[in-house]
Amino acid sequence: MSEVVTFSWGRDEASWSIVIHGGAGAVPVEARARHAEGCKLAAIGGGAILRDGGSALDAAQRAVEILEDDPVFNAGTGAALNTSGEIELDAAVMEGALRAGAVCALPPFTNPIKIARAVLAEGSHILYAGPGAEAFAQAHGFVRTTSEAMTTDAARARFLTMQGTNQSSEGWAGGTVGAVARDSSGHVAAATSTGGTFMKRPGRVGDTPILGAGTYADDEAGACSNTGHGEAVMKLCLAKTAIEWLRQDMHPEDAARAAIALLARRANGVGGIILVDRRGRLGLARTTETMSFAAMSSRDTEPSCGS
Ligand code: ASP
Repeated sequence: MSEVVTFSWGRDEASWSIVIHGGAGAVPVEARARHAEGCKLAAIGGGAILRDGGSALDAAQRAVEILEDDPVFNAGTGAALNTSGEIELDAAVMEGALRAGAVCALPPFTNPIKIARAVLAEGSHILYAGPGAEAFAQAHGFVRTTSEAMTTDAARARFLTMQGTNQSSEGWAGGTVGAVARDSSGHVAAATSTGGTFMKRPGRVGDTPILGAGTYADDEAGACSNTGHGEAVMKLCLAKTAIEWLRQDMHPEDAARAAIALLARRANGVGGIILVDRRGRLGLARTTETMSFAAMSSRDTEPSCGS
């Protein structure tokens, strides 16, 4: 079984808190500081909203937007390419009052998390796929772009390298982004965004936009964002599993460790998880070589970050 690595911010409660991940994976040593810095900026952006008394939902969304705009992450600009060399995006937001919005197999749009938020705000449905997601986005004023405009040199180079190797859905990208937050009113929220796995087949959807798999939030328990082998995460409804442990008052550090151990043991999957509980306590665990992260709470003057 892969070793479970955790990080601790102390086990105390906080009136507001946010933790961010920049994807489970294997970031090369020389790039790790850059990934951690990206997460730190996202924590600063989300943390500023919480410090000003804003909502967990706004904070989690803002943090993910910042990471979607950062080309080193596999979300928004810089997303992984599928076997056709195209970008298809998955994203979800959920708040603790059980309102949610998500999009999957979305063609290129700069900030899928904003479209997921618009789905939540509009309220008719929770998850739109492919052409339906595109139609929803356009009807709400979002402008479609092109895969070329959102593809970084690094993503293109990786696509060209992998094209010859016949790897498909096993070509796991890393670099998915997510944030979970608790605000000073006691509400929680989660947001996750990804380009999915490298060389996924067109139409493949991972765990990220599936409530209870990659993303979940419940004010009576806490909030969760996952990253890693989407197929394995979905088999275990991993976010909801971890949230049920928080509901029973397991500390998020212990729940994160248990969830990621379960992923390895039962589904032979590797990945990472971030959690916040209804008291603002944080948890993080991974079985991958790296998972960049940053966190900040009402007790801190600046975020702590790492990879
Ligand atoms: N979980 C994502 C997916 O399977 C990938 C990742 O987290 O890197 O689409």
